[in-house]
Amino acid sequence: MKRLLALLLLLSCPAPARAADGKNDGIPRIRVAISRGLPAINLKTSSRVYVLDVKTDQKYLLLENSAYEIRPGNGGILVGSQELSSPIKLLAADGHERIRLGGNLYKGDILLKATPEGRMDIIEYLTIEDYLYGVLPVEMSPDWPLEALKAQAVASRTYAMRFINPSKDYDVTNGVEMQVYNGTNKVNARIIDAVNSTRGEVLRYKGKLVMAFFHACCGGHTASSKSAWGEDILKPLYGVQDPFCKPSRHSRWELYVSSADLLRFIQAQGSTALKVKGLKIKGKDRSGRATSFTVTTDSGSRTIKATDMRKRFGNFEFRSTYITRVSPVKGGYELAGRGWGHGVGMCQEGAKYMAYKGRPYKRILRHYYPGAAIVDYE
Ligand SMILES: [Zn+2]
Repeated sequence: MKRLLALLLLLSCPAPARAADGKNDGIPRIRVAISRGLPAINLKTSSRVYVLDVKTDQKYLLLENSAYEIRPGNGGILVGSQELSSPIKLLAADGHERIRLGGNLYKGDILLKATPEGRMDIIEYLTIEDYLYGVLPVEMSPDWPLEALKAQAVASRTYAMRFINPSKDYDVTNGVEMQVYNGTNKVNARIIDAVNSTRGEVLRYKGKLVMAFFHACCGGHTASSKSAWGEDILKPLYGVQDPFCKPSRHSRWELYVSSADLLRFIQAQGSTALKVKGLKIKGKDRSGRATSFTVTTDSGSRTIKATDMRKRFGNFEFRSTYITRVSPVKGGYELAGRGWGHGVGMCQEGAKYMAYKGRPYKRILRHYYPGAAIVDYE
């Protein structure tokens, strides 16, 4: 039902300082870009939600159990039919309720800002611990053993904190390029337990936060961050042998690549070849992952980077660069591979099986990030 009385203007008052209640003291806050360049979004209020006009410091109370469309207006932002200046902030009244925006539930304060292109950027401000309630059940299955979830909580907390940077508009995005985060819809008792029982714990090496990468399955040996991205190798990301993920169904796989596809790929890279005559691994890193392949053709041979091959044939099919065998078969080549993902940092499948064997989360972390200390964030 459309309500005519869209917003109730409250007395002009200072912006509520969430930290003033002491709840967030000492806990780092993170700003998550939950949407950028959005034309409109729906807000549903099941309890009291305030809108703060950041410029004028005026606070409005939205009606309970109502739906509002929020969209860019004439330089400002429209909440229902009322235009406010940009940016605005949505605040749950008692600090415990969650805000339902665009179908997701958010625990933090939400900033909506009009962009020069006539759209909106939406950024959530929340504590790193509340953020983890949203990240954890998406980045690791919530029904996995608790010690694996706790290891993931420490890795995800550490990884996110590496990106906190007050000189930027936000710290992290909500997609696969960082850690997937869609609000706290999926939080359950096990997730809360994993986050709360590791509260504040991060991985540091020589005093610095570790870039705590993780991936689905390493296939027997984790990769060094240098071979995956060419970054400096720190001891915790140098790569370790991993016997634990062997029972995983992701540990070994096969893929068929047709000669025709391979030819199109090298032609797109500038080759003038008309026929592919052979494919073999050219270089490997110390973990055993292929770094490059040699394609033999009717007009000489060509070297291609393994990471380019993976990108071209798809991360779901070409699961990793950990290729152990290339065999010529009718019309193409069969590749045998191990693991799934870039292979750097914690192997999630290995963490799961370590937890099944009774290993505590700190031991899991010490295995995958050797040399890193598990310490409080301050
Ligand atoms: Zn593994």
